[in-house]
Amino acid sequence: MKRSTFIKSIGLLPLIPTSMQLEQLRSITYSFAPTERMPVLFIGHGNPMNALLDNAFTQELVKTGVTIRKKYKPNVILVVSAHWLTKGTFVCANPKPETIHDFGGFPDELFAVQYPAVGSPEYAAKTAELSSEIHITNEWGLDHGAWSILRHLVPAADIPVFQVSIDYHRPMHYHFDLAKQLQALRHKGVLIIGSGNIVHNLRLSMENMRSGSNKPYDWAIEFDDWAKKRLDDRDFQALVNFEKMGTSAKLSVPTVDHYVPMLYSVGLATPNEEIHQFYEEIDLGGISMRCFQVG
Ligand code: ZN
Repeated sequence: MKRSTFIKSIGLLPLIPTSMQLEQLRSITYSFAPTERMPVLFIGHGNPMNALLDNAFTQELVKTGVTIRKKYKPNVILVVSAHWLTKGTFVCANPKPETIHDFGGFPDELFAVQYPAVGSPEYAAKTAELSSEIHITNEWGLDHGAWSILRHLVPAADIPVFQVSIDYHRPMHYHFDLAKQLQALRHKGVLIIGSGNIVHNLRLSMENMRSGSNKPYDWAIEFDDWAKKRLDDRDFQALVNFEKMGTSAKLSVPTVDHYVPMLYSVGLATPNEEIHQFYEEIDLGGISMRCFQVG
C-alpha cells in the first residue's frame, strides 16, 4: 500500500468501533481509488424461497451477476434492503455479517442457507462520511433481502457486502435525496443494489394463493405498468410521489418498506443515464418482480 493511501485509511479508524480497530488496521487495504462508474441494480426479490429455486427470475439474476462482474469488477457490494428498517439511517460495519433468517414458516432448507461473504468496515466508514444522516453500527448482518438475491448474483460470495438501513420514519423524498449523496460510491468500486418490490401486497397475495390462483390483480398490473413507464421516462419525482396514483398505489404499496429500495436505485442514477429494465413478472398475484439496471 502506498504511504499516502495508508495514512488516509488510518484517518477512517476513529469511525470504526474500538473493538474492531486492531483487526481492521491489519485488513485495510483499500485505496478507495477512483474506478469506472459502477452500475446500480434494483431487484424485486419476492418470495424468500427464490434463494433456493431455479426459475426464470433467478436465472436472470445469475446472468446479470456474470455480466456485471465481467464488465465492472466491483470491489464491494452495498445493499439497501426492504428488511432492515430502523429509526435513523445506519450502515453496518460488521466485518463478518451473519446470514439472518428473518422470516418464519419456511422449510429447514431455507434456514440452513448461509451466505458467507465478509463485510466491509472500510467502505461502511466511507459511506458514513458522505452524509451526517448515516450512523455506523455493528448490529446487523445480511438479511434475506440481501442474501436471497446475492446467492444468484454472486454465488461464490467472494465480494464483500455491507448494508444501509431504511429509516422508516422519513418521507419518500428523504430516501431519494440521500441516494444522491451516495453517488460518489459508484466511482469507488461499489455496486449498489436496492432490494424490495415495486408492488408488494403480501396479505392479498396470500389470499390469492390460498384460493389456488396466481392470476395478477388488476391494481398490481396497473401500478407496475405505471412504474415501468415512469422508469422509462425517468420521471423520478412521480415515483417519489407515488401516492398520487390513488387506489392502485394504496393496494400495491400498503406499506412502503419494499417500495423504498427502488427510490435509492433511481436516486443513484445520473442525468440521462440509461435504465435497463431486465425482468418483469407479477408473482402470487400481488408482488412485482420487476428488476432494472442503471448504467
Ligand atoms: Zn421482502
